Amino acid sequence: MTDSIATVTRDVLDRLGVGSALYTGGTLDSFSPVTGERIATLPEQGAAEVTAAIDRAAVAFRAWRTVPAPRRGELVRLLGEELRTAKDDLGRLVSIEAGKSPSEGAGEVQEMIDICDFAVGLSRQLYGLTIATERPGHRMMETWHPLGVVGVISAFNFPVAVWSWNTALALVCGNPVVWKPSEKTPLTALACQAILDRALARFGDAPEALSQVIVGGRETGEALVEGPRVALVSATGSTRMGRQVGPKVAARFGRTILELGGNNAGIVCPSADLDMALRAIAFGAMGTAGQRCTTMRRLFVHDSVYDQLVPGLVKAYASVTVGNPLTTPALVGPLVDRAAYDAMQAALQAAKAAGGTVHGGTRVTEAGPEAAFYVRPALVEMPAQTGPVLEETFAPILYVMRYGDLDEAIAQHNAVGAGLSSSIFTTDLREAETFLSAAGSDCGIANVNIGTSGAEIGGAFGGEKETGGGRESGSDAWKGYMRRATNTINYSRELPLAQGVSFDI
Ligand code: NAD
Repeated sequence: MTDSIATVTRDVLDRLGVGSALYTGGTLDSFSPVTGERIATLPEQGAAEVTAAIDRAAVAFRAWRTVPAPRRGELVRLLGEELRTAKDDLGRLVSIEAGKSPSEGAGEVQEMIDICDFAVGLSRQLYGLTIATERPGHRMMETWHPLGVVGVISAFNFPVAVWSWNTALALVCGNPVVWKPSEKTPLTALACQAILDRALARFGDAPEALSQVIVGGRETGEALVEGPRVALVSATGSTRMGRQVGPKVAARFGRTILELGGNNAGIVCPSADLDMALRAIAFGAMGTAGQRCTTMRRLFVHDSVYDQLVPGLVKAYASVTVGNPLTTPALVGPLVDRAAYDAMQAALQAAKAAGGTVHGGTRVTEAGPEAAFYVRPALVEMPAQTGPVLEETFAPILYVMRYGDLDEAIAQHNAVGAGLSSSIFTTDLREAETFLSAAGSDCGIANVNIGTSGAEIGGAFGGEKETGGGRESGSDAWKGYMRRATNTINYSRELPLAQGVSFDI
């Protein structure tokens, strides 16, 4: 007899060093989308406990901000080492709790390792500029200082990577972190904390409470958002959540990094390598069962290649393997829960009502027990970009539309609320460069001949408009976690004023 998924989960948590008191006897149920079974019941933290956690973090900040940045980087280097050791188990826990395939679960942990490596290098590169001054005998420069307590709110679909993007950067930048993970994936968060605790033990002299996890639902998140001592709220999730969080933090002049929903599209041009495009679209639209913020949800195909590409895509949708990610090599795992399934079916109904032709989208009952929600991904041929096409439905639905003129396709591409990721498939330089130009895609991520998903940590990640405008991960995203001071130093014996102003007393 094979072990129940709850038993497998306990074994993995044991190996990762998570004590059972943290996930038994509480009020928050954690379910595995793989089977729909309850795998743990966690104690939750209420508003008072959140405030206490923020207060502890504020004390930690006072010590951590004065530790030299390269030394702070050493902690993140150790975290990367611990993550390498824990990669298999943590990847498996991601598969159990978020329903990802083993390859995607392991890939998410690899992304954590990558950002640690990046952040270690960064710990010696928190550069400020030296700036030419108009006043003789003066020097002007900028200095980047630690910001304060960073509150991280994360979504279920990247349950561990988003924490690491924020935490690796926050730590080298001199900030403590208080993390409110998704209520759908709290176990992976406890595992991350246990892994970081091992790195902290090896590091030796870090302050207490440099990183804390607070478990709970929306109310727990609200307490974090409202905490006046939280200098930065980095919140990843739906646009609905961002609309609630953004104004609250702005009202107290706190800082936010908002990483919200996407409605990502691809454009397939006449000169595209159609075989490559098909494979990129298949992964971008069906991978992670359509539950990536960067999932491709809309596709504009030029009239001249539509009948070559789309039948092949329909075939791929009909044949892609859907099944249990723990026991089969299926490429598409489960939806996270019934609500996701219901939202998908509602969107498909609306698409039909708007004249769409739906391929797939039905429940795959043989893939798992009744409490689990496996679906065949849906490809919907739409006559126009209307109704559900304009919104993000967090499920594997790809709306396909024809186009004749590239400028019109780009206008349609940009005519939605979200602005996260985008791609064009073309071998024509003019088309590619137009798409990447100021008059092209309005997204934070714009790709050529690859899909919309699967970003690397080296680039800044995030999007415009209803995606929230935040940037995380690579490039200069670290600046969001620090405050900048401009310093002017007078080493002369005079006191010249800028702009030629005189004030002789
Ligand atoms: P969600 O918005 O339901 O929840 C996300 C997190 O926000 C959870 O931890 C939740 O408890 C918390 N939350 C919700 N309302 C809150 C409030 N008022 N105050 C404080 N916290 C609150 O999102 P989800 O279903 O977990 O994730 C899917 C969504 O996340 C999709 O829209 C997806 O596109 C988006 N997402 C975006 C990115 C990105 O980088 N842009 C990455 C991953 C997911």
